[in-house]
Amino acid sequence: MREPTALKRMSLHFFAFFLVLSFGYGPRVEAWSKEGHAMTCKIAQDLLEPEASQAVQMLLPDYVDGDLSALCVWPDQVRHWYRYRWTSPLHFIDTPDKACNFNYKRDCHDTHGVKDMCVAGAIQNFTNQLSHYRHGTSDRRHNMTEALLFLAHFMGDIHQPMHVGFTSDAGGNTIELRWFRHKSNLHHVWDREIILTAAADYYGKDTSLLQQDIEGNFTDGIWTDDLSSWRDCDNLSTCVNKYAAESINIACNWGYKGVEAGDTLSDEYFDSRLPLVMKRIAQGGVRLAMILNRIFADGEEQEDSVAAT
Ligand SMILES: [Zn+2]
Repeated sequence: MREPTALKRMSLHFFAFFLVLSFGYGPRVEAWSKEGHAMTCKIAQDLLEPEASQAVQMLLPDYVDGDLSALCVWPDQVRHWYRYRWTSPLHFIDTPDKACNFNYKRDCHDTHGVKDMCVAGAIQNFTNQLSHYRHGTSDRRHNMTEALLFLAHFMGDIHQPMHVGFTSDAGGNTIELRWFRHKSNLHHVWDREIILTAAADYYGKDTSLLQQDIEGNFTDGIWTDDLSSWRDCDNLSTCVNKYAAESINIACNWGYKGVEAGDTLSDEYFDSRLPLVMKRIAQGGVRLAMILNRIFADGEEQEDSVAAT
């Protein structure tokens, strides 16, 4: 098993209120927008088996009334707080410019070179923590509610293609351009602009209708036949590598492709990229559900599949 040791250490520090990493990060902007994260989590929650559904309900604070999506954006809200600053590099992966592939050993670290400090390492770490939920004694120091929220959020982030982007432009954050008539940047186009433009143009600004369309595409639609391959995962620890590789692939072929700083992106870019954004939200949700269903399933088999990785 390849232990995400840095993260484990971090967790200890985190609960002891230690400051671990306090500086060294520029203003790197957020993640899927709150709309994107909420859709990913709603899709996942709709696909939970009874055991997982019950565990999630138990872990959520009462005030969200059993709605995981209400807290899926929480890791973005706290990442600049003193106590959570160590989580800031966990939202993304910087890959070498133009390499267009992902290599865990090469790419999963923070700017100081601390291993496992990237979104793929974070998913492994929090999956691991949650896998001790049923056998609570072994890992009591971990806060399971926060582990659930981090896992749910980072499964969204790793599916946002520009979260696995090039190092020199911070995943498109420094590529300033116009989205139709207003100023934006390439990263933000993928985080939020495409989703909001779709919601405004096609769904009366109601993202729940967009979410229903996304779900319709895999329950009875163009992605139905792909569903089992999306869920396919022999080893919960290494499947994140596949998700990250898919993202950098889309980032290269659709995100960065043909785009330069100062460009104006409009209809052509929007029309051709919207289906990809919808698909990545769907995949994030389907796979989050797959992980939670396996972690929280009754029986030892699932537990072993996590522990043996
Ligand atoms: Zn994020």
